[in-house]
Amino acid sequence: MVPLLLALAAAAIVIGVVVHVGHTLADELRPPRAPNGAGTDGIGAAAERRRFLRLIGISAVGAVPATILPVALRTHGDVAATAEEPARGPGGRVRQWTMIIDLRFCDGCQSQGTPPRCTTACIEGHLAPEPMEWIQVFEQELPGGGTQFIPTPCLQCQNPPCVNVCPVGATFSTPEGVVLIDQERCIGCRICMAACPYDRRFFNWSDPPVPPEALLADYSPDHQVPATRGTVMKCDMCPDLARAGTLPYCIQACPNDAIYYGDLEEDIATNGRSVVAVSKFLTDNQAYQLKEHLGTKPRVYYVAGHGQAVGRDPYTTGRLPTEWPWLRRVEGARVWNR
Ligand code: SF4
Ligand code: SF4
Ligand code: SF4
Repeated sequence: MVPLLLALAAAAIVIGVVVHVGHTLADELRPPRAPNGAGTDGIGAAAERRRFLRLIGISAVGAVPATILPVALRTHGDVAATAEEPARGPGGRVRQWTMIIDLRFCDGCQSQGTPPRCTTACIEGHLAPEPMEWIQVFEQELPGGGTQFIPTPCLQCQNPPCVNVCPVGATFSTPEGVVLIDQERCIGCRICMAACPYDRRFFNWSDPPVPPEALLADYSPDHQVPATRGTVMKCDMCPDLARAGTLPYCIQACPNDAIYYGDLEEDIATNGRSVVAVSKFLTDNQAYQLKEHLGTKPRVYYVAGHGQAVGRDPYTTGRLPTEWPWLRRVEGARVWNR
């Protein structure tokens, strides 16, 4: 009897030690729980999230040039550290993110012989499910003949119809002027999709393919990983990358440096190669916004063109179709039609 009791006691001690070590390890490995957009999980969680994003950025967009730091954006006032704390520029003013897409330099990646790289990099950086193209490159006929390519992310409207109609506040504007979606609050009613005049929102109709690296992600509306069935997703303008001093995936991947990212408050933007004064660049090049007459006030600006600055012949039409790597990489992955 005594040996039996001793054996049971020893077994209990061993189990206790194993459980304790397991919990400690799990605590070490588990990424801090992200907020649903309303709460806060502290600087450590945000740092962890950025570390992960850099990780997937490097692995997923490994084929693109090394991350180009928008140095001018980092030199003053320096950036804020948390997803809840907006980035601030000189004088402590909150950054107001903006994008400029210079169509004179966009050839739809015809010269590369690849599908549009901005689209591909965004898909891989966000593990976006097929058939979502958060930045979709449309080919449009020009009035005088030939075509132009128009990369189209979410336009980050400052008067966003999508936000105005959401019945549960799942989509919202941040202090940095970015429109985000909290998939943990989204009820899948898709009213926002009907309200968006640019067709820039996408619905997870089925269980989206979730690559193994997505399982490590600590969910945040800033990057929307992992995708969840029955919720809406879209371009989030990569504010977490901007706060970390890195350009969005689409901009890093563009071989022609056609896309700029910047801060309206400090009046600077960069495509990773050069820095421009936003107001002067927009004025000098007569920039425009899509469907300006609707009063949505997009934060994404365009400079007219058809790839002429990189030698594109507008009569060379067509671009290669977008590809998603998930069916090859995720067993049982499924896709759906919009
Ligand atoms: S914006 Fe750049 S990456 Fe995107 S299609 Fe145009 S040239 Fe290619
Ligand atoms: S482009 Fe559409 S989804 Fe994006 S902010 Fe404007 S209305 Fe909303
Ligand atoms: S800004 Fe970010 S989310 Fe938007 S298209 Fe570019 S990579 Fe995708």
